[in-house]
Amino acid sequence: MNGAEKIQAIRMGLKKIEAIRMGSKKIESIREGFVNVVKYKLNMISKRLETEERDSTSRASFKCTECFETFTDFEADQLFDPMTGEFRCTSCNSVVT
Ligand SMILES: [Zn+2]
Repeated sequence: MNGAEKIQAIRMGLKKIEAIRMGSKKIESIREGFVNVVKYKLNMISKRLETEERDSTSRASFKCTECFETFTDFEADQLFDPMTGEFRCTSCNSVVT
């Protein structure tokens, strides 16, 4: 191998290294893009779930006939009076509807 051939070989090697580097960069950017899409989708799903949960917990299902306090489905167990079989207000003990 003479000097010119050595330089040529080194240049070829550098090109190969560069190609591998570029290739892995490309793979990395594809993977990053995929991860971003997944992150975005998960974010959308969790946001939607949060909204649904908030809506269902804040939706009043029971209303006191006396003091007009409202209660949600999740509070039903606190309102239920097993003695009378009625749902009663936790504030004034009137029947809720
Ligand atoms: Zn009440």
